[in-house]
Amino acid sequence: MSMFVFTEEQQLLRKAVREFVEAEIAPHAKRWDEENHCPIELFPELGRLGMIGTFVPECYGGVGMGYIERVICLEELARHSAGLAITIMAHQLCMGGILLFGSEEQKQKYLPDMATGKKVGALSLTEAIGGSNFMGQQSTGMQQDGKWLLNGRKCFITNAHLADVDLWTVVTGKNARGRSVLTAFLMDKDTQGRMPGRAEHKLGMRSSNTGDISCVNVELDESHILEKEGSGAKIALSTIQEVGRAGMSAICLGILRGCLEESLEFSKERMIYGKPLHKLINIQFSLAENRLDYESARLLTYRAAGMKDAGEPCAGEFALAKYAATEGAIRAAKRTIDLMGGYGVINEYPVGRFLRDALTGSTAGGTSDVLKVVIAAESLK
Ligand SMILES: Cc1cc2nc3c(=O)[nH]c(=O)nc-3n(C[C@H](O)[C@H](O)[C@H](O)COP(=O)(O)OP(=O)(O)OC[C@H]3O[C@@H](n4cnc5c(N)ncnc54)[C@H](O)[C@@H]3O)c2cc1C
Repeated sequence: MSMFVFTEEQQLLRKAVREFVEAEIAPHAKRWDEENHCPIELFPELGRLGMIGTFVPECYGGVGMGYIERVICLEELARHSAGLAITIMAHQLCMGGILLFGSEEQKQKYLPDMATGKKVGALSLTEAIGGSNFMGQQSTGMQQDGKWLLNGRKCFITNAHLADVDLWTVVTGKNARGRSVLTAFLMDKDTQGRMPGRAEHKLGMRSSNTGDISCVNVELDESHILEKEGSGAKIALSTIQEVGRAGMSAICLGILRGCLEESLEFSKERMIYGKPLHKLINIQFSLAENRLDYESARLLTYRAAGMKDAGEPCAGEFALAKYAATEGAIRAAKRTIDLMGGYGVINEYPVGRFLRDALTGSTAGGTSDVLKVVIAAESLK
C-alpha cells in the first residue's frame, strides 16, 4: 500500500478473506453470539489460510506479510464476527510479544504452532486494581532457590480459558525512584499453580472468551522470562500500543463497514411513503455520516499500519486510529439502529450485535479517555 492505495496482492488477499468469511463465518456469527460460543475449533483452518500468522515471518511458520495485511484480515473477519476477530487479535498480542522480544529459542518453541493456529495465546496484563493503572499492578515474581515464584490474579483476559501460552507481567522489584519494575514471563497452559477462574458474561463480543487467571506459587525458571528481567513494562506497552490498538482499530473498522453496508441495504429495500427509505434527506445524512465515520477510521488505521510496516514510531497514530474507529463504530451502530426504526432492535438484524460489540471493544486496549490523554500528550510534544 502506498499511502492511500492498496497493492494488487493486498486487494487479492482481501478478496480471498472476504469470500472465506462470507462462506464460513457469516452464517454462524449470530448463533455463536447467542450461545456465547468461541469458535476456537476454526483456529487450525484460519491458521492454514494465513489469517492468524499474517505478520509472522515464514521461518517461524507464518506467512511473512505485514501489519496492513493483518488489518485487512481482522477487518474482514470483524465485518461478520467481532468476537472471533478479538480472539485472534489477543492471540496475536501474545505472538507479537514473543516475536518482538523473545529469544531465538522461545520463538522456535512457540511461534510455529501459534502462527498456524495449533496453539492459542493470551496476553495477561490487566488486574482488578484498574487496567488503566498499568504500573500499579500487584502480581509478584520473587526469586527463590534459583527459581521464580509467581503469585497474583489477572482479569478481563481474552482467551483466559483457551490459551496454551500465556504472557504475564508481574512486579519483580522497585527502581531507585520507588516505582515498580515489571518482568514478563511466558507460561504454558498446564503450569502447576496457573488457574483460569471466572469466565465473564459480556454485553458484546460474546463469541470470545474473557476471564480471570490466577497464579498461586507458580514456579518458573529463567528460560520463561521474555527478553530480560525488568523489561516487562516496555514489552507490555509496545505490544498494547502497536499490536493491540492496531487490532482493535481493525476490528472496529469491520463493525463500521457492517453498519455502513446494513444501512445502505436497508434504506434501499425499506419502502415508506411509497418510496425507498433513502429518499428521505435525514436518512441520506445518516448514510453520509456512516460513510464518513468508516472512511476516516479507515484512513487513520491503514496509515498507522503502514507506518508500523515501515518501522516508523506509530504509537500516537494507533491511539488516534483506535479512538476514531471505536467511537465511530459506536456512533454508526446507534445511527443505523435509529435509521431502521423498529427493525433496528429486532435481533434478526445484526446491528444490535454491532452496537454491543462496539461498546465492548472500546475498553479493550485502552479506554477512549485514556487514548485522548495519550493523543494530547503526543500533540503537546
Ligand atoms: C472485551 C475485553 C477484552 C480484554 N482483553 C484483555 C486482554 O486480553 N488482556 C488484558 O490484559 N486486558 C484485557 N482487557 C482489559 C482492558 O485492557 C481494560 O479493561 C482497560 O485497560 C481498562 O481497564 P479497566 O477496565 O480496569 O478500567 P479502569 O482503568 O478502572 O477505568 C475506569 C474509568 O476511568 C477512566 N480512567 C482511568 N485512568 C484514566 C486516566 N489516566 N485518564 C483519564 N481517564 C482515566 C477510564 O477511561 C474509565 O472510564 C480486556 C477488556 C475487555 C472489555
